Amino acid sequence: MAKNPKRSVERLIETAVQAQKRAYCPYSRYPVGAAVMTAGGRVFPGCNVENASYGLAMCAERAAIYHAVASGFDSIVAVAVVGAAAKPCGACRQVMHEFSDKDTAIHLVDLNPTTGRRKIVKTTVYKLLPLAFDPLASGLLPKNPRNLLRRKTAKTKKRK
Ligand code: ZN
Repeated sequence: MAKNPKRSVERLIETAVQAQKRAYCPYSRYPVGAAVMTAGGRVFPGCNVENASYGLAMCAERAAIYHAVASGFDSIVAVAVVGAAAKPCGACRQVMHEFSDKDTAIHLVDLNPTTGRRKIVKTTVYKLLPLAFDPLASGLLPKNPRNLLRRKTAKTKKRK
């Protein structure tokens, strides 16, 4: 996290609040915003995006994580989720676990749209998903999957 942890958390939450305003949720009318922070203090927003084919909807939390990964970051130190009593679904908890460690904080921000008041609960990804399916413990992944990807890329480049 960046130099001033408190300010970093405020920036993370504010990013999630702004992302909630961009949610595309005409079917559920339940806007959710999320933001994830990398070790270097970069923040990536996400919002829920629904579709006429309901099963294709994507949660804000996963949208934010995929945003970070697509930008080259796969280690998350903090997450914020903003919505009316919003809490991550099971799928999002598993995806968060993939890119988190035991200290990764999650700030659940219950935002009252009428009053603007916020009730914040702080916990960790590991507490939200105890006994998660762990790709390292199961032997599915080496310690750092990014190194594996880099090696493959390097070999591919040598062949050309
Ligand atoms: Zn979800």
